[in-house]
Amino acid sequence: VGIDMIAGPSEILVVCDGSVPADWVAMDLFSQAEHDEMAQAILISDDAAFLDAVAASIARQIVQMPRKEVIGRSLRDRGALIRVENLPQAVDLVNRVAPEHLELATRDPQALLADIRHAGAIFLGRYTSESLGDYCAGPSHVLPTMRTPRFSSPLGVPDFQKRSSLIEVSREGAQTLGRISATLARSEGLEAHARSAEYRLDDGAAPAGGSAVAAVPVPVVPATSAAARLIRPDLLRMSSYHVPESGGLLKLDAMENPYRLPAELQEALGRRLADVAINRYPVPSYAGLKASIRNCFRVPETAGLVVGNGSDELISMLVTLLNQPGATMLAPLPSFVMYAMSAKLARMKFVGADLDASFQLDLRAMLAVIDEHQPALVFMAYPNNPTGNCFSREAIEEILRRAPGLVVLDEAYEPFAPDSWLPRLAEFPNLAILRTLSKLGLAGARLGYLVAATDWTDHLEKVRPPYNIGGLNEATVLFALEHAEVFAGQARAIRDERENLLQALRQLLGQGLEQVFPSQANFVLVRVAEASAAGGAAGAAGAASGQAFAGAAVAQKMRESAVLIKDVGKMHPMLHNCLRLTVGTPRENQMMLAALRRALALPS
Ligand code: PMP
Repeated sequence: VGIDMIAGPSEILVVCDGSVPADWVAMDLFSQAEHDEMAQAILISDDAAFLDAVAASIARQIVQMPRKEVIGRSLRDRGALIRVENLPQAVDLVNRVAPEHLELATRDPQALLADIRHAGAIFLGRYTSESLGDYCAGPSHVLPTMRTPRFSSPLGVPDFQKRSSLIEVSREGAQTLGRISATLARSEGLEAHARSAEYRLDDGAAPAGGSAVAAVPVPVVPATSAAARLIRPDLLRMSSYHVPESGGLLKLDAMENPYRLPAELQEALGRRLADVAINRYPVPSYAGLKASIRNCFRVPETAGLVVGNGSDELISMLVTLLNQPGATMLAPLPSFVMYAMSAKLARMKFVGADLDASFQLDLRAMLAVIDEHQPALVFMAYPNNPTGNCFSREAIEEILRRAPGLVVLDEAYEPFAPDSWLPRLAEFPNLAILRTLSKLGLAGARLGYLVAATDWTDHLEKVRPPYNIGGLNEATVLFALEHAEVFAGQARAIRDERENLLQALRQLLGQGLEQVFPSQANFVLVRVAEASAAGGAAGAAGAASGQAFAGAAVAQKMRESAVLIKDVGKMHPMLHNCLRLTVGTPRENQMMLAALRRALALPS
């Protein structure tokens, strides 16, 4: 047990302006002097006659005291009567002596109190004898002695409490503090310190996903404005995401289909759109749109279907539906960033479970979270973004059986995947299939749909904003689905091209690429080799751009070659140095590969 000090002999210091009877003050001095011969009793006054009166009173009263020997020795060896010019001088002395007990026996003790900095217990005014403090005044009377009041306080509850510091840095704060920390850490030769701070910097890395990319600065809201007072503090501190400028760049960062509609279909679509009555709201039920989706994607008749303005909107609608107090969302990590983001925006609790080293579900970790948190909502992307792989079907089945809530399989990349969970909907009452037409070639039309048992979809309809699909988008999707074979052909071409791209990328293994991950989506995840001090291909890119990480440096170099890909290195520790490359047309992929080779300082 640590203690602050060993309490020393008692001390009293009385400051008196002569307004209190000399006998009272003399007795106050005695009251500490009688403790023991080492006790210290001091009187300070600006009134010489009063000091004389106290001295006389001491001489007169001491003979009546049972402990007169002790009092006498204490006063002789350690006592003092001190005259000062004025009371402020007395205060200076008090602060030097830093007594255990201080009596301010003056007409206006409060006037002196403000300047007293060091004293254990302070007794104010003529009626407050120190002895009351010993027995019954109230505050703790375990007091610091021997001048320790300069730095310590009466014993109290705080002495028995231990404290922890809480540090919470916002994303913006991490930009400033991260750079400072990294500079100081490197000057001390502590590289891991520097990098752990730099992981949180926004440069070139932000949450994954087609839409969410780099941070924009938080708008400065004056602290006094109504907005600053009324907007949720966590949102005030947050920055929004925006898509990076892609003008003039080959855009391979957002998993878009690189092919446009054939020219004759573009014209036909133009005519169709000209017919849309844009003075009217869309048909609110979207019955025609839904029938077309059902027919085209073979949605089981008994299942319910809800449309969303992109699948992003359906994700936030699901959160709105299921976010009760205490409700939890679970998703494996790394995964599509909008799951956690939607939870955060709605203040729903989010729990992530890390994937294993081969980006497969860690089933034990997932089940442990399910058992502990009983999540109302589980999201799994199949195939997963940004890793590109499909999770094991057995693991997903186990999760579907164990999870008490809705399990959403997000099939955004279904057009490029080997299989779908849609045919198995009837087997699992808690299964929902989330799809989007974005990757198929309709990213501009913003259409997502969710298929699940009607128990779920009937209620999900209630949180869908009315008219969430614009009439022009609706008409576009209806038109596109009439020509579904065109999109199916494009998806086939993309799948073929993915294999070519994978092959070409694998040839760069050991030449700046450390890993090329298998893909069942329309993008490929690769890991760039660490920039080494000795140089090497990746090292050259790192050194050339002055960046700490090879992945970020390669992404930056590719951008300088007018190719935009996605640096996901800072999204999750497992994605260190990883880049996500969208499959483009054969020509686009050649350009991307050429830019990658240049970035890796390989001969073209
Ligand atoms: N789910 C996944 C797994 C995604 O990667 C994305 C976008 N990249 C979406 C959903 C959202 O797609 P959208 O809002 O365009 O339908």
